[in-house]
Amino acid sequence: MEQLDKMLRLFSNTHGVSGYESNVRQLLEEKLKPYSDEIRTDKLGNLIAIRKRGGPSVMIAAHMDEIGLMCKYVDEKGFVYFVKLGGWFDQTLHSQRVILHTEKGDIYGVIGAKPPHAMKEEEKKKPVNAEDMFIDIGAKDEKDAQDLGVIPGVTVTLDRQYTSLANNRVTGKCFDDRAGIVMMIEAMRLIHERNIDATVFAVGTVQEEVGLKGARTSAFGLDPDVSLVSEVTVSGDHPGIEKKHSTIELSKGPAITILDAGGRGLIATENVVKWLKETAKEFDIQIQLDVAEGGTTDATAIHLTKCGIPSSVISIPSRYIHSPVEVIDLEDLQKGAELLARAVETVSKHF
Ligand SMILES: [Zn+2]
Repeated sequence: MEQLDKMLRLFSNTHGVSGYESNVRQLLEEKLKPYSDEIRTDKLGNLIAIRKRGGPSVMIAAHMDEIGLMCKYVDEKGFVYFVKLGGWFDQTLHSQRVILHTEKGDIYGVIGAKPPHAMKEEEKKKPVNAEDMFIDIGAKDEKDAQDLGVIPGVTVTLDRQYTSLANNRVTGKCFDDRAGIVMMIEAMRLIHERNIDATVFAVGTVQEEVGLKGARTSAFGLDPDVSLVSEVTVSGDHPGIEKKHSTIELSKGPAITILDAGGRGLIATENVVKWLKETAKEFDIQIQLDVAEGGTTDATAIHLTKCGIPSSVISIPSRYIHSPVEVIDLEDLQKGAELLARAVETVSKHF
């Protein structure tokens, strides 16, 4: 558990918005190298680590990108306007501290907006949209901001350090999908340690949060026999959300996706569901079954590649997903890695 805690801290505190995953990729390459026979980065930036053995090939995919922002323009007073990368709930961005990753180095900023004192009573009742927010880096004017390296295209991430809560539960930014990245690394470690005879493509994908892009191209190139995506999923066990919105709970083990986005994203093929259920039963791993209305994952793009690739998702329940205070249980992560590794072990019986 300590090792997973350390690893997730490292990945959560590393920054990489969609299209700018190089820091995450570098770290992932270093971690996967000991368990791979071949490792490469493809033309779009996906990291592909290959373990060559017999049997059916399994693609494990976890996306390297996190939701973030990108600088759009700086006004004459030095305030920075931005576009959102990925599915932000605007209220989450209000009053956050951020890091701007400029060519000259990282600098801090805060997301400002109109203070309540200047609002009419009616205005106070309404949510503030991201388009009415801006980043204040402390610059005195446009030139000052430019001199600091803040120009269009500079990427921005939230400034939030990983921290521990009670009961092996931890909180931080971008557990979506760095927790999935760590789960994939841990699964590869187990596969290597147990000397499992299976061919695995472990892929760190790019640009998932903006349209499942890297998964699409990497799956096309690799054409695996079957695929499992390593992800997080919405936990429905806290105030404000009902069982009918999500039956998934923290600390009850990894979830396997039966269906997401109401069937418009992924419907896992019956043989994949059977494989995962039987494997979990055989190795006594508690799982949860995820039937979700909203959201989707890389598996949606992967399963429609070429002539079709049977796919599902193994995910860690996460509270407050797409916020800088996501909460997961490290034990769920560990069990998810165990399920991934065991699934690779049993794949030849099913495909
Ligand atoms: Zn994700």
